[in-house]
Amino acid sequence: ARRSGFAGRAERMFGLMDGFLKNDPWSLQKDVMHHVEYTVARSRFSFDDFEAYLALSHTIRDRLIERWHDTQVYFKRKDPKRLYFLSLEFLMGRSLSNSTVNLGIKDQCADALNQLGFEFEQLVEQEGDAALGNGGLARLSACQMDSLATLDFPAWGYGLRYQFGLFRQVILDGFQHEQPDYWLNFGNPWEIERIHVSYAVKFYGAVEEELLNGVKRKVWIPGETVEAVAYDNPIPGYGTRNTINLRLWAAKPSGEGDMESYNTGDYINAVVNRQRAETISSVLYPDDRSYQGKELRLKQQYFFVTASTQDIIRRYKDSHSNFDDFSNKVALQLNDTHPSLAIIEVMRILIDEENIEWNRAWSIVCDSFSFTTHTVSPEGLEKIPADLLGSLLPRHLEIIYEINFLFMEELKKKLGLNYSQLSQMSIVEEGAVKNIRMANLSIVGCHAVNGVSRVHLELLKKRVFKDFCELWPQKFQYKTNGATQRRWMVVSNPNLCGLISKWLGTEAWIRDVDLLIGLKEFASNTDLQHEWRMVKRVNKMRLAEYIEAISGVKVSVDAMFDVQIKRIHEYKRQLLNLFGIIHRYDCIKNMEKSGKTKVVPRVCIIGGKAAPGYEIAKKIIKLCHAVAETINNDPDVGDLLKLVFIPDYNVSVAELVIPGSDLSQHLSTAGHEASGTGSMKFLMNGCLLLATSDGSTIEIIEEIGNDNMFVFGAKVDEVPALREMKSSLKVPLQFARVVRMVRDGYFGHKDYFESLCKTVENGGDFYLLGNDFMSYLEAQAAADKTFVDQEKWTRMSILSSAGSSRFSSDRTIQEYAEKTWNIEPCKCPF
Ligand code: PLP
Repeated sequence: ARRSGFAGRAERMFGLMDGFLKNDPWSLQKDVMHHVEYTVARSRFSFDDFEAYLALSHTIRDRLIERWHDTQVYFKRKDPKRLYFLSLEFLMGRSLSNSTVNLGIKDQCADALNQLGFEFEQLVEQEGDAALGNGGLARLSACQMDSLATLDFPAWGYGLRYQFGLFRQVILDGFQHEQPDYWLNFGNPWEIERIHVSYAVKFYGAVEEELLNGVKRKVWIPGETVEAVAYDNPIPGYGTRNTINLRLWAAKPSGEGDMESYNTGDYINAVVNRQRAETISSVLYPDDRSYQGKELRLKQQYFFVTASTQDIIRRYKDSHSNFDDFSNKVALQLNDTHPSLAIIEVMRILIDEENIEWNRAWSIVCDSFSFTTHTVSPEGLEKIPADLLGSLLPRHLEIIYEINFLFMEELKKKLGLNYSQLSQMSIVEEGAVKNIRMANLSIVGCHAVNGVSRVHLELLKKRVFKDFCELWPQKFQYKTNGATQRRWMVVSNPNLCGLISKWLGTEAWIRDVDLLIGLKEFASNTDLQHEWRMVKRVNKMRLAEYIEAISGVKVSVDAMFDVQIKRIHEYKRQLLNLFGIIHRYDCIKNMEKSGKTKVVPRVCIIGGKAAPGYEIAKKIIKLCHAVAETINNDPDVGDLLKLVFIPDYNVSVAELVIPGSDLSQHLSTAGHEASGTGSMKFLMNGCLLLATSDGSTIEIIEEIGNDNMFVFGAKVDEVPALREMKSSLKVPLQFARVVRMVRDGYFGHKDYFESLCKTVENGGDFYLLGNDFMSYLEAQAAADKTFVDQEKWTRMSILSSAGSSRFSSDRTIQEYAEKTWNIEPCKCPF
C-alpha cells in the first residue's frame, strides 16, 4: 500500500519537476547568504573566503540534491537495468568548479559572488581535494562517473569513505615525507550523510550446520559486527538533469551484542573497543600497484563489498519478488580485483539467505558481474592468504573452495589431467602459503574481462592470463581508458574551451566530443594559431606564478614547459627524464658562448608521490631535488634550463599544470603501462607528447600520427629479447657519463644515490634506460627543433587537441554500456 501511495505521489510530482530552486544570480546570492547565516552560522556582515566557499557549496549542493531526487525517482519509476560500479578508489578532486560547470551555472555563481565582494576563482581554491585513491585507476573511476551521468546511464558508484585519503607529500631537504590528509576536518559540504542507510558487517566466527525443514544449511555465526553507514555524493551530468550517486561507506560501531559486553563490567574498555570499528574505513592504502595480504586491507575490501551488495540487493528486492530478473536488471562492475569478494558475497547471500540452489545462484552471479583488470604482469596480481581469509570470513572461504572444486572438475573435462595447467588456473594457489588468487576468481566469476587498451589485451593473452584467454576467448575484451573533457578541458582550461567553441561555432563538443575533429581544418590558420598561443601563454603565466610561490624559482614563460607528473615508479622512468636533464645540463656547461644562443630554454617540471615504503622511488625524488639545486643555482646555465619538483601532486595540481604545459613525457618501458590516462589529458589540452609506444599511447599515435608527437624507445615486442640480452648490450657513452656524475657525487649525497645507480648498471637495468637513452635524446632534440618553429609546434598542438576525442571517457563508457553491461540511457525528461 505504501508503495502504490509513493507511485501515485510521484506521478503528480513529475509535473512539478522543473526545479524548485532558481539559478539566476539574485536567487543564488540569496541562498548563499542564507547558508552563511544558518548553515555555516556566521554573521552575514562578516565572513571570510572559506566561509563563503562553504555557503556557496551548500547552495550548489541543494541544487544537486534536487536533481538527484528527480533522477532517482525517475529511475525507480522506469526500473531500467542499472550499472553498479564498484571501486575501492575514487580520485574525485574538487567539486565546486566541476559542479557549477555541469549544472551550467558557473557564470551566474561568479556574478552572484562578485556582487558580494568575492571572486569565484578564489573560493574554488579554498576547497581541498577528495583524494580517495592513488593514481590512474582511481582517477579513471572519477572520469567514468562523470561520463555515466552525462550520458544519462542509470548508474551508481560505490566506494569507501576513507577518513584519511592519499597522504600529503611534504618535501623536507629534498626528501619525501608523508603526512595524513585531514580532508574531513573542516567538514565536507558535498556529501549527504544517510544515517538511516546502514548495514551490519560481520567478521570472524565460525560456520555451523543447521537443519531447517529437514534441509541442512550452513550458518555463519560471526564473532564481530560493525556498521556500514552511507554517505552520498551526487554526481551531476553535463547538459542533462540526470544526477547520479556515488555512495561511500564509513565504518561505525555497531549496537549489536551490546548487552553482552557491557555486562562484563568493563564499560570503558567495551566502548573504546567498539570505537575501533571506525579504523576499518580510516585510511587508504598508499601503494598503487601491489597489495600484500594485510588483514586491515582485507577487512576494508569485505566491509566495502558487503555493504554495497546488501544495498544493491535491497534495492532490487524493493521492486522484484524473486531473483529471476536479477541479471537483467543489475550489472556489477569490478574495478580491478580489489572488490572481487563481491562475487562470493552475492553468492553467499543468494544461497544462504535467499535459499537459492547453487547452480542457479552461480549463473545469476556470472551473468551479473564483469571485471576490468589494470595489471600487466602476473607478479602484480592480488593474492590473499587462505588462512587470513578463512579466519576473517570462514563461510566465504568455503564458498571459494566449492567454486574452485567445480571449476577444476569442469577444466579436467576440457583439458584432461594437465596438472601444471590446472594448478596455474586454479583459484587456490598451493605452496608453503596457500593463497587465493583474486584475479582467477574474478575471471571465473565474471561474464566479461576487460583490458584497458588494445595492447593491454594482447599482453593479457600472451602473458598474464594466457590459459584463460585460450579457454574463454570471447570473455576477454578491451576498452581503452578515457578522460572526461568536462573536468580536463572545460573546468581546468576555460580559455582554451572558449577558443575551441568560437572556432567550431558551437559548445556541443562538450557533450559530443567527436566534434573536436572539426578543429583539424583550422590547424594551419594563422589567426587561430595566434589565439591558441595566447591562451597557452596565459596558462603558462599562471603556472609560473605557482612555481615561484612553491619553490622560489623564477621561470621564463618563453621557455618550453616540459612536464612529467604521475606516480613515481621505476617503470615510469622519471630517472630517464633526470638523466636526460643531467645530459642537457652537462652539454650546456661544456658549450661555447655562441653555442648557447641556439639552446632552446626549458623549464623541466616533475611531480608525483612515491609509495611510503618504496625506497628507490623516494631516492628518485631526492635526486630530482639534488639536480635541481645544482642546475638552478648555476650562473653558467641561467634561464636555459630550470628544474622544479612540484610537491603533493593531486588532481587540482594536475588541473593547473596540464593546461600550462608545452610538452609532456610518458616514458614507461614498453609493456609496463596498461593504459595511462595522464597522456590523454595533456593531449586534449594541446600539449605535445614525448612518449614510448606503450599502453594507450599506441592508439594515440594511430589517431594523431607519428609526426604530431615525439615517439622513442623499444617497442612492446622488442622488450623481452632486449631484457635477455641486456648484460651484453653496450651502454652509450653519454649514458655512462651521466650515471657516473651521479655516482661520483656531482650532485652530492654520493652514498645515498649508489643503490639508485646500481639499478641501471651491470646488466641490472631491468627497465632498459640504457637501451632507450639515445633514442630518448633524439626525441628530445626533435622537440627542441620543432619548438623553434612555433607555427609547426602550434599546428601539432591544435592537431593533438583535435585528435583527442577517442580518448574521452564518454567513448569508453559508451563501449562498456553496449558491449559489457548491456544498459540503456534513462534520461530524466526535463
Ligand atoms: N594521479 C593523478 C592525480 C592524476 O590526475 C592522474 C591522471 O590525470 C594520474 C595520477 C594518472 O597519470 P598517468 O596515467 O600519467 O600515470
